[in-house]
Amino acid sequence: MNLAALVHSLRCSLLRIESRLLQAAGLDRHLAPALAVNGPSLLPQLQPQVGQELEEQSPGLQDSIMWMAVPKKRRTIEVNRTRRRCDSKLLKVKTNIEPCPECGHLKQKHILCGFCYAKVRKETGQIRYQIQAMEGGPLRAPIEETVVLYDGETAGPQDKDKRIVERPRKRPAWFSS
Ligand SMILES: [Zn+2]
Repeated sequence: MNLAALVHSLRCSLLRIESRLLQAAGLDRHLAPALAVNGPSLLPQLQPQVGQELEEQSPGLQDSIMWMAVPKKRRTIEVNRTRRRCDSKLLKVKTNIEPCPECGHLKQKHILCGFCYAKVRKETGQIRYQIQAMEGGPLRAPIEETVVLYDGETAGPQDKDKRIVERPRKRPAWFSS
């Protein structure tokens, strides 16, 4: 072995030791783990302009991550249930319920009875169907007033110029004229 080969081997071993030390200290970026991905180096980089600061030119990988607070301790199920069953989250007991004076179903005070409203709505819908069948077309805004006559009712003199709809049934007690 001549002198040149000895110097070369010493130089290589010194470089290897230096790189190992730099890698152990975390100062060397070229000897990162093989699977590590350097995000900004994969993205296209704009050419840095003159006058920009150094921080703006080289954004780090963690700059695009929005860090949020996370709980430090696990909350037990008893604590969670106590929180969920506190007084403000329970259903309130209603004290404004009374029977409907017409049908007897329970309803809230100052609120229309749903049972009576459904009855009136159904009868009104049938009257509308009958008007549609009489006039042979879609419902139009009537010019004259409409009078609904049930079985056993006749049009009086006050209903002379009104549109008369005759219903083939007995007038319901809750359907006033
Ligand atoms: Zn009712």
